[in-house]
Amino acid sequence: MPVATRGMMRGVPHDRLRPMGAEMMLSNAFHLFIRPGVESVQKLNGVHGMMAWDGPILTDSGGFQVFSMSDICKLHEGGVKVENPIHGGWIDWTPKMAFEVQAGLEPDVAMVLDHCPSEPSNRDDVAPAVERTMRWAKEQRELHEARGGAGSGQALFGIVQGGIFEDLRTECAIGLREMEFDGYAIGGVSVGEAHAEMMTAVESSAAHLPENKVRYLMGVGTPIDIVESVARGVDLFDCVFPTRTGRFGTALTHAGRLHLLNARFREDTDPIEPGCNCSSCLSMIPRGAIRAGFQSKEINSSMLVAVHNLHFILDLMKRIRVAIAEGSFEELRAEIAQVYRPRLT
Ligand SMILES: [Zn+2]
Repeated sequence: MPVATRGMMRGVPHDRLRPMGAEMMLSNAFHLFIRPGVESVQKLNGVHGMMAWDGPILTDSGGFQVFSMSDICKLHEGGVKVENPIHGGWIDWTPKMAFEVQAGLEPDVAMVLDHCPSEPSNRDDVAPAVERTMRWAKEQRELHEARGGAGSGQALFGIVQGGIFEDLRTECAIGLREMEFDGYAIGGVSVGEAHAEMMTAVESSAAHLPENKVRYLMGVGTPIDIVESVARGVDLFDCVFPTRTGRFGTALTHAGRLHLLNARFREDTDPIEPGCNCSSCLSMIPRGAIRAGFQSKEINSSMLVAVHNLHFILDLMKRIRVAIAEGSFEELRAEIAQVYRPRLT
């Protein structure tokens, strides 16, 4: 899922999304609640109207964002009080509120509010976060049931927490499975842990989630993170990584990362990746021109590379689907591991 946190992509024109194979989009309930507000989104015909997107849309509950602003949030057992970053004052962001806001925004998939601890390796933080996440999940599962479950037109996904601890991940996954959500997410990863720790978290979560429901890994990731998570049973991803790295001048290619600001591209006449059929590469704008544009802070240089990178990631997902169907996934896995080395520390 390409990420439109505030209802709009950053650096990727809307008309490029379908041609590059985007099917499902992600937005963020907390941010839309802050601006433009639920009533305004409803006047724009819900998130689908606001984003002009007739495919599926998933909204995150904003748990991760709220807790990542830890200096302006106060956790309590019933939710989290957070300072309104736009209008001032305090918002009590509770499981019920996250649920009701998402019911108002009308995405196809809503996420539960969970507690994502900032330090995944501190058991004293992570264990209470798991307990809180499961208690909040149960409360939201009951609200979902009262609204008609998936029959309401909106699915609700539970989120597995547990940091880097296998036993806590397992306990949380089993607890959520028993609550019978419409799909399941693995949260609290990609927050600074090493690749191997992330894979332990993914494996110990995914192994206990039902095979016949979607497994979604939140906020991941790089090509190697994606391929290795698919190998462990993950189906769905979202990440700002391709567009963010692109906006800062790094292109993802089949040969690895290219840092286009590097002096060696100064007079390079190739497009970002020769042979790529994204709109940026088909335009034949040379690397040398894109580099010069970055140096003079031209928006178009950022956009060209953001579009190429998102195309690369969506194309990787397509290649994964084909490889699984054809029985050649292990070859693709080895190819990506060769080119995109995992984060070791
Ligand atoms: Zn391209």
